[in-house]
Amino acid sequence: MSALPEYRTRVILEGEGVPVVQGIFLETGSAPPDALPGTPVYLKAQIPGATSRKAQGLVRRVDSIDDIPIELKAIEQAADGAMEGILIASGLDIIKEYYAACTLDFGSEERLPGGVLVFSAEGGSGVEERSGSLVSIPFLLIAPPSPGDIMDALPSSVPEASAESLASLLHGMIGTFLKYRLTVLEANPVGLLADGSVTVVDCRAEFEKSAVRKGDRDLFITPGSKGSADLTPLERKVAAINAADPSGTGFFRQNREVPPAGALRVATNLCGGGGKMLWEMTTGYRPSIFTMNESDTSGGLSAFKSCRILKVILSQEGAQVLILTGSGMAFQNQHHLAAAVWKALRESPTPLPCLLRFGGTDENRARELFERVSGSLPVQVRTYPAEIFPNAMADDLEVIALSEALSVDPPPPAQGEPFLTVEVPPGRIFFYPELWPFEESPPSVTACPTGFLKWEDGTLSVDTEARCIGCLMCECAALLDGNSEIRIELDMPEEVD
Ligand code: SF4
Repeated sequence: MSALPEYRTRVILEGEGVPVVQGIFLETGSAPPDALPGTPVYLKAQIPGATSRKAQGLVRRVDSIDDIPIELKAIEQAADGAMEGILIASGLDIIKEYYAACTLDFGSEERLPGGVLVFSAEGGSGVEERSGSLVSIPFLLIAPPSPGDIMDALPSSVPEASAESLASLLHGMIGTFLKYRLTVLEANPVGLLADGSVTVVDCRAEFEKSAVRKGDRDLFITPGSKGSADLTPLERKVAAINAADPSGTGFFRQNREVPPAGALRVATNLCGGGGKMLWEMTTGYRPSIFTMNESDTSGGLSAFKSCRILKVILSQEGAQVLILTGSGMAFQNQHHLAAAVWKALRESPTPLPCLLRFGGTDENRARELFERVSGSLPVQVRTYPAEIFPNAMADDLEVIALSEALSVDPPPPAQGEPFLTVEVPPGRIFFYPELWPFEESPPSVTACPTGFLKWEDGTLSVDTEARCIGCLMCECAALLDGNSEIRIELDMPEEVD
C-alpha cells in the first residue's frame, strides 16, 4: 500500500469540491514564496506515510514572517532528506474539530464488500482512543449515500446550522475516495468555523499503485521520488547495499505492473545503458516477455557489490529466468563479473536459469569460467559472445525458464574467525590453513591480481601497500584449482519490510 502526503491529498479533494484550508506547497530546497498567507501559519513536512510529525519537529507554528526561513531550515534538517517538500498552511480560528475517513470494507459472508464513511464529532489527535464516538455509514461502491442520507446519520451533537455543509464535505470525500479508487482517505481534523462553515485542516490517503489510472499518475507518483516509502523491500535492500558500499553504480528498480497472464517473467541484470537499450529493443514488441526489474551493475562496481545485487535480483518472487547482458563495450572486468554471478548462483536459495552475455574486458575468460562451473549448478546456464544480439538470446528464454519456483539449501556460512575483514569494498575473507598445508603458494593467493594476498614461508599475509578490489578471484581459484582454502562472506542487509 502506498501513501499520499497531505499536499497531494488536498489537490484531489479540492478537485471534488471539498473545502480545504488555504496553503502553499514548497518543494524541498526552493525559496519561500514572496506572498504568504497571514500569520500564524503552520509549516508541515510532506512525507508519504509519515505519522506523529509534530512530535518529531516536522510540524511547526510560525507567528512571524521573519521566522519562516529559519523554521523551514529546521524542518528540512529534521526530515533528513525524506520529505517531498513543505506545506505552508494558514492558521484558522476553529471552534470545533471533527474526524472523518473513508475506508474499504472487504465484506463478510453476510455482507457485500463496499466502503465505509467513518465520522466522529471529536477530532484531532488521539481519535483512535475515542472509538466509542465513531459513527459508521457503510455504503455500496455503486450506490454511495447522498448528502441527505449523510445528514440524517450525523450525530445530534453536530450543530444544525453546520450539518448541511458538513454533509456536503463528507459527500465530496466519498466522491474523491471512489473517483481515485483509494483504500483510505482521512481528514483529521475537519474544522468547524465560527460562521458555521467547515474545512479540511489536515488529510492523507492510501492507495494501491496498480489501481492508479494512467491519466492520474502525476497526482499520485512523484517522478524520480527518492522517498524510501516509494521503494519496494528489495529496492530498499539495494539502497542499503549502496549505502554500505557507495562506489560504482548499483541500480535496481522493480516493475510495478502486474505481469500479463502467461507472460515469461524475466529478471534482468543489464550492465549499463547499452545493455538496457538492447534489451528494450528486443522485448519492446513482445508482450509474451515481462521484464521484472531494471538494473545496472556497470560503472566500476566490485564483484563483491555485483554479487550482492545479483542475489537481490535472484530473490524476486515469481521470476523464471535471469538475463544478463552488457553493451559489448563494458570497462567493468567481465571475468570478475562472472565470478560474482557464479557466487550468487551457488549461494542463492532461489537460483534462476541464466542467459549470460559478457561483453568487455576479459569476456573470454568470463565465458571459460562458466564452461568449467555450469555443470555443478542447480540451474541451466548458457553464455553468449558479445557479438550475439539479445534478440537471439530472447528466443532461448523459454527453453530454459523454470516452470515453477526452485528452492535449494544454500551452503552453510563460513566457520571460525575471518582471516581479515576488508572495509572497502566490504567483505570478510576466511582462510583455512589445514586445507593448504603446503610450502608453495596456493592458487588462491597466486590469483590475487593486486598482490594484496601474499604467501611467505608457508603462511598467508597481506601487503599493506596493496589493496583488495573485491574481485573474488582468490575464492574462485581456491574452489577451482585449490582445496577451498579461501572463502569470502558477503553479508547481506537485513530483511526490510
Ligand atoms: S584478496 Fe585479492 S583476489 Fe581476493 S578479492 Fe581481494 S583483490 Fe581479489
